[in-house]
Amino acid sequence: MTGTVANTSASGFHFGARTHGQFTRRRFLAAASAAAVSLPTSVRAAASYTGMRRAMLADIAGLTARTAASTGVTEIDPKVMDAIGRVLRHEFVPPELAGSAYENRPLRIGYGQTISQPYIVALMTHLIAPETHHRVLEVGTGSGYQAAILAELVDRVHTIEIVPGLALEATERLSRLGYENVEVRLGDGYFGWPAAEPFNAIVVTAAASHIPPPLVTQLAPEGALVIPVGQPFSVQMLVLVRKHADGQVSVHQILPVRFVPLTGGH
Ligand code: SAH
Repeated sequence: MTGTVANTSASGFHFGARTHGQFTRRRFLAAASAAAVSLPTSVRAAASYTGMRRAMLADIAGLTARTAASTGVTEIDPKVMDAIGRVLRHEFVPPELAGSAYENRPLRIGYGQTISQPYIVALMTHLIAPETHHRVLEVGTGSGYQAAILAELVDRVHTIEIVPGLALEATERLSRLGYENVEVRLGDGYFGWPAAEPFNAIVVTAAASHIPPPLVTQLAPEGALVIPVGQPFSVQMLVLVRKHADGQVSVHQILPVRFVPLTGGH
């Protein structure tokens, strides 16, 4: 499992959020089937995904409030929530999991990897404080979902994936969905993307044993880097690294999380 809030109290949050999501979805499906007589299947499916996406946003807001004591974040930036409300998460998961795409939990995407829990995507995106003029680097493209959220918010997204099949699928998917401001590259993201630096923000969506120095170097002054740091297959700490205007770096612990490991030869 990756990209999920971790530990006992946190997994309590996780299941709580899922139960709420199921309740909301059931209610919505009941409404959708009532309308089944007159609407074509594609319209019904789209309406049902829209309803589920709204319920997912409510789950994210609820979990944000319940984790605020640890994260210091009481509310996700409304423009981040709007972006999450616009991105079709069901397009980023295998077709057989499309019906679960808006549950507030990670889902498998093949190659032993997963798409992160929506709440974690929201929190990480909020923490980097994205602005329209920003250039952002993501390490760990996976399905391309986090890259799509970023692409809704900033001018330019660079994203690196180490598994060739995922890099290829994400490139095709992002292009099909019209995300023209995202560039996907196959490689080891530990070393960043020197040709495209400096980045106003960097989001690492796989767990590293330490903060990769090349990423700190490639961060612009007043930039933010968010990364899970800790042992693989264990609980890690989501860490926010800030580079100040004078180049000084500060590190803030945000929340215990579980991510798949950052692999590669570094
Ligand atoms: N952000 C993704 C989910 C990330 S799962 C999404 O929105 O779907 C973590 C991803 O990091 C996996 O796809 C994994 O293959 C990738 N990864 C692991 N180590 C990496 C490395 N050194 N460089 C680039 N990608 C890496």
